[in-house]
Amino acid sequence: MFIAHAPSGYLLATHFVERARSLPVRASLAVAAGVIGGLAPDFDMLWFYLVDARQTHHHKYISHWPVLWLSLLMLALLWRQVRPSSASAVVLGLFAAGGLLHMVLDSVVGDIWWFAPFVDRPFALFTVPALYKPWWLNFFLHWSFALELAICAWALATWRRRQRARPIRGVR
Ligand SMILES: [Zn+2]
Repeated sequence: MFIAHAPSGYLLATHFVERARSLPVRASLAVAAGVIGGLAPDFDMLWFYLVDARQTHHHKYISHWPVLWLSLLMLALLWRQVRPSSASAVVLGLFAAGGLLHMVLDSVVGDIWWFAPFVDRPFALFTVPALYKPWWLNFFLHWSFALELAICAWALATWRRRQRARPIRGVR
């Protein structure tokens, strides 16, 4: 997935914020945590290009291991159970959920090692045939890119709805 990670994190976090009965943290911070979590696994591209010299598929790094994001999410849920008023638990939870959603979306047409580090086998729902050059054109011309565009459109519509619903400052 290329362009829909931040929008999907945004959708996940706004869904949670709009349904949470009590939110011990500012909604904007909670949404930011989801967006950053949605992007976070791909920060490993810096390591891939700058340190690893493109020697390893970046989905093999720990930042793309589902077990990492699942563990962080479990930790956040436990934390919130023990201290329901903890803002950090909500921030961590949305960050981790964003990261886990990134794994699911990467897995649509990309390899994700779902059982790493225990099983060295990647899983992908669909494969993108190599028909064009450069390589990224194959992804942009594949049907799955329509899914990315749909997620972006959904996030944009949600953002506009939330903007309209915001009270105008200074007006009582
Ligand atoms: Zn990724």
